[in-house]
Amino acid sequence: MKKECIECGELFTGRSDAKFCSPHCRSNHNNRQNRDFNNFMRNINNILRKNRRILADLNPNGKARIHRDKLMEQGFKFSYFTNEYVTKSGRVYRFCYDQGYIETEDNYYTLVVRQEYVE
Ligand SMILES: [Zn+2]
Repeated sequence: MKKECIECGELFTGRSDAKFCSPHCRSNHNNRQNRDFNNFMRNINNILRKNRRILADLNPNGKARIHRDKLMEQGFKFSYFTNEYVTKSGRVYRFCYDQGYIETEDNYYTLVVRQEYVE
């Protein structure tokens, strides 16, 4: 039975589980997947670093009160953060590395800096 190579589209004869017509196509395919994944990781790392920089720039003294719009203006992406810290009373701090924030009221955020590593 002829199969279609998922890399180049050529028809080839091979085992029922074969996906590539040649080792060359297999390695091209795998290299591209790795590259795509590396790009994906790089993009996320860049977003996290940018988020961190925005927080640090707005919080030069270790504590600041900032409106959500100010963060949005700078391109802050709320869905990306490195970790959360939940206090005993259930309030959630979100961090981008050492720079953190917590929503207070009316779309205002208190920015904080983490001094030590917290699990
Ligand atoms: Zn091929």
